Amino acid sequence: MKILVADDDLISRKLLKNTLEKWGHEVFQAENGEEAWKLLQTNDIKFVIVDWLMPVMDGLALCRKIRSSGSLGYVYIILLTGKDKKEDLIEGLDAGADDYIAKPFDRDELRVKSRAAVRILALEKELIEKNENLSVLNDKLEKLAKMDTLMEIGNRRSFYETIEKVHYRAWKYSQVYGIIMCDIDNFKAYNDIYGHLAGDNILKTVADNTKLMLLKSEDLFRYGGEEIVAILPEQDLNETVLLAERIRKRIESLAIDHKGNNSGMLTISCGASAYDPKKTNRKWEIILDFADKALYSAKNSGKNKTCRYEDS
Ligand code: GH3
Ligand code: MG
Ligand code: MG
Repeated sequence: MKILVADDDLISRKLLKNTLEKWGHEVFQAENGEEAWKLLQTNDIKFVIVDWLMPVMDGLALCRKIRSSGSLGYVYIILLTGKDKKEDLIEGLDAGADDYIAKPFDRDELRVKSRAAVRILALEKELIEKNENLSVLNDKLEKLAKMDTLMEIGNRRSFYETIEKVHYRAWKYSQVYGIIMCDIDNFKAYNDIYGHLAGDNILKTVADNTKLMLLKSEDLFRYGGEEIVAILPEQDLNETVLLAERIRKRIESLAIDHKGNNSGMLTISCGASAYDPKKTNRKWEIILDFADKALYSAKNSGKNKTCRYEDS
């Protein structure tokens, strides 16, 4: 382990260095607190044995500096001291030292106390690693909780979170945004003819192909069983309809067999709506309902088409 020995007394420092090196440690030396502080900045040292009385910066000042710095991580500090009055020791521990050793040091005491330091530092390292793993897992879990695992797009919960934010921003900065709702045509029949597993694959294919048509800022969510909804920041109704049509055509162009459709191919229908704060002051729930109504019109007028809901 890397150990820094800070002591202005050359003989005491050399003695400590030789002893610690015999036990397999890598030893750095400093003549005072300031030198020690500089070495700590660049050498990733976690264990310091520091003399109390030193010129320039003494041991207590170094302890305080290490403890108040947020950048070093945990550093284990043993204070070397000729002082053995109880009040002195308390002052030393108060300054942030973890332990102390009386000067001149006793080899056995040094061995026991440095072993304890190594053990504590190893535990601390393990704890940090576990915490890091936990926070990575937490992030993954948080992402998963917002995902639909079959379609690999956002779920309804994350749709609500996103639409709230997009709507608020649009309202605040007086911007438009669009919503597209897509639904697979005669999907129940698809399941009946080709089986549920094939149906699941279709859901993924539709989601993948729709995602490809969207910009980074545009999000896609699974809203219901086979309904997906896209939020398009800064897109007005005309732009939203154009994109919906492009998505619909892309799915059609995949030419996936669907004997339950008159066309013999898998198709989707789309409903488009948009929020325009310059025209009306609607809640997002209303804009979503408009997209749903437009989708309903598309279904009722023959399917495989896009309808728009004109707000007035
Ligand atoms: P329409 O053209 O009017 O939309 O008719 P439809 O048959 O697509 O609509 P309906 O709402 O009657 O049926 C939707 C079907 O979607 C019913 C359900 O079995 C299927 N579905 C919903 N979720 C899943 C899923 O996760 N996997 C599969 N394979 N099918 C699903
Ligand atoms: Mg359907
Ligand atoms: Mg449906």
